[in-house]
Amino acid sequence: MSRRIDADLLRELETLRSQDLYKTERLIAGPQGPVVRLEDGREVINLCANNYLGLAQHPAIVAAAHAALERFGYGMASVRFICGTQTVHRELEKALAAFLGTEDAILYGSCFDANGGIFETLLDERDAVISDALNHASIIDGIRLSKARRYRFANGNLDELEERLREARDARRRLIVTDGVFSMDGYVARLAEIRAIADRHDALLMVDDSHGVGVLGTEGRGSHEASGLLGRVDILSGTLGKALGGASGGYIAASSAVVGWLRQRSRPYLFSNTLAPPIAAASLIALEIVRQEPERRARLLDNARRLRQDLLAHGFEVLPGEHPIVPVMMGTADRAQRFAARLLDEGVYAVGFFYPVVPEGRARIRLQVSAAHDRETLDRATAAFVRAALTLGPEKGNP
Ligand SMILES: *Cc1c(COP(=O)(O)O)cnc(C)c1O
Repeated sequence: MSRRIDADLLRELETLRSQDLYKTERLIAGPQGPVVRLEDGREVINLCANNYLGLAQHPAIVAAAHAALERFGYGMASVRFICGTQTVHRELEKALAAFLGTEDAILYGSCFDANGGIFETLLDERDAVISDALNHASIIDGIRLSKARRYRFANGNLDELEERLREARDARRRLIVTDGVFSMDGYVARLAEIRAIADRHDALLMVDDSHGVGVLGTEGRGSHEASGLLGRVDILSGTLGKALGGASGGYIAASSAVVGWLRQRSRPYLFSNTLAPPIAAASLIALEIVRQEPERRARLLDNARRLRQDLLAHGFEVLPGEHPIVPVMMGTADRAQRFAARLLDEGVYAVGFFYPVVPEGRARIRLQVSAAHDRETLDRATAAFVRAALTLGPEKGNP
């Protein structure tokens, strides 16, 4: 057996290391939370989880998962259409649809799968999909699987979107797809304007609201609610792995017809196991908490505002916005990596993002605030940023 591939890949890995592009994974030895315990016993402030509402370790969520484990067992050992659908799965789909303002919803093992299973199911060579250039990798991959004509517009450039729609005017279906919140920048898509453009061109609108659901809108329904578009986005996809409990699972919420067709034809739904019952049951409680505890969302947004202000006041370059994604610009990958390492020494766990995830020269440390952070913790985080910058010396975007 030839191990040529191993030698080749080890060389490639070495190249990544030498270019500061190598991602290391840190071992966390306890539950996910505003503060986490590392393998070596150190407790560090966690500013890089998608645990927006602090539900990942919430006692009611854990209790719901325990109870479902007892009642429904560990797993289904089946896909949905064979014998993998319990009452709790259907209940969650109905609750998601009601919450998001659509006729129905369908669960997937992840939002990556949801996005992977929608385009080829709804679109073929007669159709066109028009996608924002900064859309999530799962949308890009999902589009690749379909035979539809593909158009791309620069991030948030609505003139270009309209231009692409004109080019696609002879298509049977035109589907515009955008993230609700762009994860590297924390920018919220201009959905109201996009909806108006879609209407002018008789196009469908799909929004992947993985970073918006539970976070944005008066009732936490997401970026469509925040944009005044409840009931007016044709297709929503999203994850249960961020604000809504943080375990795993994804969904598509849409009309009964779209969801009905996905159940018949969407490959990641048909050929992959269903959600574990404890996750389905705990997700129902997560939706309940979003509904009944709006103060969590208020605290989350307040925390984000405060951290942004404090970092700006200390001279850091922070991308503008209101979302709990708070990108602190670092310039080079090397600087971002060294800054993140320094932060960890100071007791703050945050991660540097760099090319190819963001454009070259636009490396950053992406902070993510949680409702579970208290003031004192955020103050300590800001102080750690200031000390790290002092130690490393000034650089563009840093004091
Ligand atoms: C996180 C994320 C996903 C993937 O969600 P999973 O459920 O973890 O697969 C998809 N789309 C967007 C926009 C995301 O932010």
